[in-house]
Amino acid sequence: MLFMAMIEIKDIHKWYGEFHVLKNVSQSIEKGEVLVICGPSGSGKSTFIRCINRLEEIQKGEILLEGRNIHDKGVDVNELRTEVGMVFQQFNLYPHLTVLENVTLAPIKVRKTDRSKAQKLAMELLERVGIHDQAKKYPVELSGGQQQRVAIARALAMKPKVMLFDEPTSALDPEMINEVLNAMKDLARDGMTMLCVTHEMGFAREVADKVVFMDAGVIVEEGTPEHFFTNPQHDRTKAFLKEIL
Ligand code: ADP
Ligand code: MG
Repeated sequence: MLFMAMIEIKDIHKWYGEFHVLKNVSQSIEKGEVLVICGPSGSGKSTFIRCINRLEEIQKGEILLEGRNIHDKGVDVNELRTEVGMVFQQFNLYPHLTVLENVTLAPIKVRKTDRSKAQKLAMELLERVGIHDQAKKYPVELSGGQQQRVAIARALAMKPKVMLFDEPTSALDPEMINEVLNAMKDLARDGMTMLCVTHEMGFAREVADKVVFMDAGVIVEEGTPEHFFTNPQHDRTKAFLKEIL
C-alpha cells in the first residue's frame, strides 16, 4: 500500500467575507505525529485547526483525512467530528451533566454504545487523565485544570483518530497548566496524532515532532523543535520567540 499521511492539507484558503484569513496553507501530519502551531494572536491558528473538523469551511484547497477528502459529499460532519476530536480553550463542558455524563453522552447518543459499556470506558478515560474520583461531580465543582481533563476524556471517548487542541491551557491558572500538559504528553506517548495550538514551548520542545509558526494567515516557518528553538530563520519567528520565551 502507498504510504498515506493521517492528514494532508493542500493549499487551503479561507476568507471571512473579504478578509483572507488563511493563505495557501499546506501541511502533512503522519499517524502518531504531534504538530505544534504557534503565532501571534489573530494569525489564523484557531481558524486553521477548526477547518480540520469543519467547524470552519474552506473556499479553496483540500483536506484529506487518511486519504479521504473531508468535503466529499458522503462525509457526515458529525461523524467527522468524532474522528477528529477537539479540546477548546474554554472547556465547553455541559454544565447540567455530571463529569461521567459529559463523557458518556456522545458515545451513547451518537455511537449508540450501551450505557454500561460507555460508563466503563468513561471511567477508564477519567482514570487515565487522573480524575476518576470526580466522576459524580458537576463541572462547576471542578477546578479549571480538572474541567479541561474532562474535556480531553470526553473527546477520547469517541476514539478519535486525531485530536485538535486550541490553546487548552490558556484559560488556566498557572498551577493547573501542568496537569493538562501531562495528560496531553501521555496521549502523545500513546501514539495519538495531535495538532496543538499552544504557546507552551516546554511542551513543544518535549513532544512536538514539528513546530509551525503562523503569522497573518501564512505558515512563515516550520521545523523540528530543535530547529525552531535554536536556529529560527525568519525575523518574525525570532521576534515572536523572543517575546514568549
Ligand atoms: P488566532 O487563533 O491565531 O488568534 P483566529 O483564527 O482566531 O486567530 O483569527 C484570525 C483572524 O480572523 C483574526 O483577525 C480574527 O479577527 C478573524 N476572525 C476569526 N473568526 C472570525 C469570524 N467568525 N468572522 C470574521 N473574522 C474572524
Ligand atoms: Mg485562537
